[in-house]
Amino acid sequence: MRKDYFRDLWTFVAPGRALRHFDSKEVKASDHTGCFFCPGNENLTPPEISRVQENGSWQVRVFPNKFPIIGGEDISENGWETASSYGHHEVIVETPDHYQRVSEITVAEMVNTLRTYRDRINALEDDPNIGYVSVFKNQGREAGASLDHSHTQVLAVTQVPAQIKEKMEHSHTGECIYCKINQGERVSPRLVSINDSFVAFCPFAPRFTHELWVVSREHIRSLNNLNDPALADLAGILLKSLKVVEKVTPNYNMVLNYGPKGADFHFHIEIVPRIPHQVKAGFELGTDYAVITTAPEETAAFYREHISENQPY
Ligand SMILES: [Zn+2]
Ligand SMILES: [Zn+2]
Repeated sequence: MRKDYFRDLWTFVAPGRALRHFDSKEVKASDHTGCFFCPGNENLTPPEISRVQENGSWQVRVFPNKFPIIGGEDISENGWETASSYGHHEVIVETPDHYQRVSEITVAEMVNTLRTYRDRINALEDDPNIGYVSVFKNQGREAGASLDHSHTQVLAVTQVPAQIKEKMEHSHTGECIYCKINQGERVSPRLVSINDSFVAFCPFAPRFTHELWVVSREHIRSLNNLNDPALADLAGILLKSLKVVEKVTPNYNMVLNYGPKGADFHFHIEIVPRIPHQVKAGFELGTDYAVITTAPEETAAFYREHISENQPY
């Protein structure tokens, strides 16, 4: 991979990804038999890494990504900094049902999914060449998903990304910004939902319209620090959050934020709705500023009004 001329930003050159299959609208509307992720088509994916078995069939299934971002180019050039593009790129399918969105799975199924996230992070972090494992979900074509069948991606890279390093600098126990954010936002007009372990709110200065964060109420580093009730709390508030985000758009990214081994960090999840036509344009590119079209207080009021608080979670 190639480093920016001077900033701590890296670019993967992965030409193989241009060969990816993109589902057409027709595939989803008519026939799911050609779907790589559906039960019965397990032989179409690379060899399985793990699965969660429920009632005689799998509920969650993990396998390597056929078109990995990593490993595409290992370049060295005098003058400009490069690094190995070594890593791992995996897919986690969270439901055997081709037509089910992840927001529609049960709390118990979401707990299975979160445990799978945790186990894959732990397994990949055991590789001494891995610096960080990014776990994210692209839901919908506008959010970057190429296949309609719901899935999460796991990308293990050799370095800790600058964005995570910056967050680590502000997550020291006792003076953690996320602990402070929790205290403030749970009583702010941006609060969306709260339970014993997590709080969901719209951030004060979002990067994207209708952005929603789910932040641990305890100062914990990662999913490893959640016991069973706290995992169920996270599954519940996450499902509610995704459902209510889908009331504004079916397209969103969900990104886990946790600290690498040994780091001091405050675990949280960011959900970024992708509104069509709201691309980052010239002003945003030239300044790194953001422009949003709805104040987070207004979005939070909409989310509070439409969230299903009467569900088990
Ligand atoms: Zn499918
Ligand atoms: Zn904290």
